[in-house]
Amino acid sequence: MQQNTFGPISGSTILGGISGKKAIIMAANIRIATVAQGIFQAAKDTDSAVFMELARSECDLKGGYTGFTPKTFSEKMNEAAKATQCVIWALHADHISIKTGSPEEMEGTRQLIDAQIAAGYTSFAIDASHLFNFEGKNVREELEKNIIATTDLARHIKSGMKGKAFGLEVEVGEIGRKDGEGLILTKPQEAVEFIKALQENDVFPQVIAIANGSTHGHTYDASGNVVEQLSIDIPQTRAVAQALRDNHLHVGIAQHGITGTPRDLINQHFPKGDIIKGNVGTFWQDVVFDIFKVYEPALYQEIQEWTLEKYRPLNPGKKDKQVFDGNCKMAIKEFFKQIYSVDERTNDAIRAMAYAESLIFFRSFSSYGTASLVRASMKK
Ligand SMILES: [Zn+2]
Repeated sequence: MQQNTFGPISGSTILGGISGKKAIIMAANIRIATVAQGIFQAAKDTDSAVFMELARSECDLKGGYTGFTPKTFSEKMNEAAKATQCVIWALHADHISIKTGSPEEMEGTRQLIDAQIAAGYTSFAIDASHLFNFEGKNVREELEKNIIATTDLARHIKSGMKGKAFGLEVEVGEIGRKDGEGLILTKPQEAVEFIKALQENDVFPQVIAIANGSTHGHTYDASGNVVEQLSIDIPQTRAVAQALRDNHLHVGIAQHGITGTPRDLINQHFPKGDIIKGNVGTFWQDVVFDIFKVYEPALYQEIQEWTLEKYRPLNPGKKDKQVFDGNCKMAIKEFFKQIYSVDERTNDAIRAMAYAESLIFFRSFSSYGTASLVRASMKK
C-alpha cells in the first residue's frame, strides 16, 4: 500500500535496514517546505533513504516557529514525496523536548505525540536530556528522571501506534551544553547505563543522541562571524559507539547539529555506521534565505528588519549580523504567507539548490544505495 501512496515508512525499518553498513542517513529539518522536493528528488536519484523532521520548537500544536503543526507538516512532506515518487523515507518528530518533567508538561507532550501519530509520523525522538540530576551519586541517579520520562513517553507512543512499527531516538547529554571549560561531552558509561535502563523497561530505541561537541545552528568566532564547525569529538563518539557495541545494545548514534561541518571532513573522518543518523537543520533554512537575497530582495529586507527590530533589544552587545543569523528562524511563521507565495522561479532555484546540496550530503554520508538496502530488508 505504501508503495502506491508514497507515505512514510517506519524509522526503525530504515535504521534496521542499514544495520552494519558504514552509512549515515540524513535527517533534514524542513523549516521551509520548499526545500523538501529537492531533497526527495536527490534521495530518489541517489537511492538514499532519508528522514524528514521538525523539532517540537519548530512544529507543535500551535505551529512552533515554522508555522507548521504535525498535520500540516505531514501533508507537505507527503505531497513532496508523491511529487518525486520517493518511497524510502520516514516522518520523524525531532526533539520532543521535556524541560521539567512536570505533570502538566508530560500531559502536553502526550497530546503532541497523539497529534503526531494521527498525522502519520513514523519515527520519534524523545529528548528528556535536560532532566539531568547534577546531585546524583552515580550515573543511574544522574539519569533517573530522564529514564522515567523517556520510558513514560515511549510507552505512550507504543500504545498510540497500535502495533505498527516506529522509529525511536532517545537523548542523553544535552547537545551544546557548556560548563566553565567548554562543551560537556557524553561519557560512554552514561550512554550504556541509559540504554540498559531503558531496555530493562522494555523500551528499545534504535538510535541515541549524545553530546559530542556539536551545537545546533551556526558556529561563530569572537566577532560574531559564522565559521566552520570543527568541534565534533570523533574519538569520543567512537568510544561511545564501541561501549554500546561491547554491551550488545544494538543502538547507533544520532549526530545532531551538523550544519557548518565541512562535508569533506564528514566524508573522510566521520565514523559512519557508528553514527547512523545525521541531522541537518539550519543549513536548509540558509539555502532558502540565500536565494531570497537575490530572488526576493524586498521580502528578504522585510524579514531582516522585522527580526532585528524584535531581537536587537534582547541581544545587547551583539552585532546585527549575529542577531539576525541567530533569530531569523523566528520570522518563518511571521512571514509564512509571503514565503509560500514567492515567484515560481524563486521556488525553482530553492529546489535546485536543495537538490544539489542534498547530493553532497548523501555522498559525504555514504548513503547512496541505502534505500535499496532498506527495500531488501523489507522483503525478508
Ligand atoms: Zn538536535
